[in-house]
Amino acid sequence: MVSRVIPVDPFDLVIFGGTGDLARRKIIPALYRRFIAGQMPPEARIIGAARGDLDDAAYRDQMRGALAEFLSGDLNADDVSAFLDRLHFVSIDATGDAGWSDLRDLMRDDVIRAFYFSVAPSLFGALAQKLHDQDIAGPQSRIVVEKPFGRNLKTAKALNETLARHFDETQIYRIDHYLGKETVQNLMAVRFGNVLFEPLWNAQYVDHIQITVAETVGVSGRGAFYDQAGAMRDMVQNHMMQLLCLIAMEPPSRFEPDAVRDEKLKVIRALDPVPSDDIVRGQYAGTDDIPSYRQDVENPDSQTESFVAMKVGISNWRWAGTPFYLRTGKRLRARASEIAVVFKDAPHSIFGEEAGRHRNILTIRLQPNEGMMLGVTIKEPGPGGMRLVDVPLDMTFADALGPEGEHVPDAYERLVMDVIRGNQTLFMRGDEVEAAWAWTDPLVDAWEARDERPALYEPGSSGPEEAQILMHRANRRWREIKE
Ligand code: NAP
Repeated sequence: MVSRVIPVDPFDLVIFGGTGDLARRKIIPALYRRFIAGQMPPEARIIGAARGDLDDAAYRDQMRGALAEFLSGDLNADDVSAFLDRLHFVSIDATGDAGWSDLRDLMRDDVIRAFYFSVAPSLFGALAQKLHDQDIAGPQSRIVVEKPFGRNLKTAKALNETLARHFDETQIYRIDHYLGKETVQNLMAVRFGNVLFEPLWNAQYVDHIQITVAETVGVSGRGAFYDQAGAMRDMVQNHMMQLLCLIAMEPPSRFEPDAVRDEKLKVIRALDPVPSDDIVRGQYAGTDDIPSYRQDVENPDSQTESFVAMKVGISNWRWAGTPFYLRTGKRLRARASEIAVVFKDAPHSIFGEEAGRHRNILTIRLQPNEGMMLGVTIKEPGPGGMRLVDVPLDMTFADALGPEGEHVPDAYERLVMDVIRGNQTLFMRGDEVEAAWAWTDPLVDAWEARDERPALYEPGSSGPEEAQILMHRANRRWREIKE
């Protein structure tokens, strides 16, 4: 298979927070990969910005270390040096005056200007203001905003208003890296590129849909932040909501930013409020060897959830009556993210009761082993009557696409290049983010008002027992969490 990489236009990409964890772990390695793929024109430059007192050479050294640490496989020293030559550093304080004139002097007029806000969200407003006041960002510039985008509707609105004072919506790229995942985009290709699935993609044929994002890690390292957020704000309001939208939305007329985002917004607005009986909140307990959530966040009374499971309804013609089950948590049995579309039973079994109950399940696997799998029912081979068995039609990318499938590009590779290309399709629009908070806020407010305690669950389990009961009540079961 021949790779078709088209270089993007020349750019100056400024990474505020260019020495931080996200830049080192994700953004710089992603840019390196795109450089190696031939997508970066010779005139492209990457400018790290943070308060540290570094010169270009010291910054390049730091980023050489980041590439060695976060990219697997042997790195070619010449390639790395050629890439690092494009890096520069400006010492700048988002809230002060230092460094801004240096940045202005460094920027070129005839290339795309993009500014990645990879700093704490409390600095987003200050950066937008400075870029404007210092005459560094113009109408053609783009800003990239990391999560979290607010912690409720009020703060998200305030942030949208602050950014809108200086930037048009077409210049604002709100990142949800789940949208950059190859399988998530493939979900749209499968739904809208094939005639097979769309006729069945509705309440008439789909029994229910499960979306699981399970992690084995706890919250140590980001405990202070997480304890203020919890699984609902950290995972459901953004990542899981985006997945749900892509599964549930109507076909957009074109694969274009506003056509896609309009359809996603309609889904969010059609979400039913979730009664308290349909939500389970959990918090991981500890063992002799593993610290509990409360120990991890150093808050012995914390009532924050590290796990949430819920049943969500969508009030529209396509989905009325088909529930969406969402489940996410930390310190679970395995690291596994997947969407499972569970189709209904065949209306009548010609094989009789003894053939058992068999269902088609389309599984979209986000991690690990990105790919898709369709479970189909066939005859078990051999004599002895008509026994049925479910087998997978498996399309793991690495197997199906050969060497190209082995390197599934990281979400950030796709998203950063989309910013330079000026394509907002895989970024959240301001009204989408607000609508998602408008749905989430009452759920969080309700359990805070009830002073509700999360159910404890064993580390390495599938979450609290109550989550199983949520499914059993409807005579359904969660899929096993496994890698
Ligand atoms: P981090 O490791 O704490 O890095 C913060 C960066 O911002 C550093 O480069 C820091 O350098 C710089 N900085 C801090 N105060 C500044 C100021 N006043 N002016 C200019 N630069 C300043 O944070 P991070 O983990 O990279 O996260 C960055 C953003 O990405 C956050 O919004 C976070 O929520 C989001 N995010 C991170 C991850 C992740 O995996 N890390 C994932 C998703 C989203 P100096 O101290 O030298 O200034």
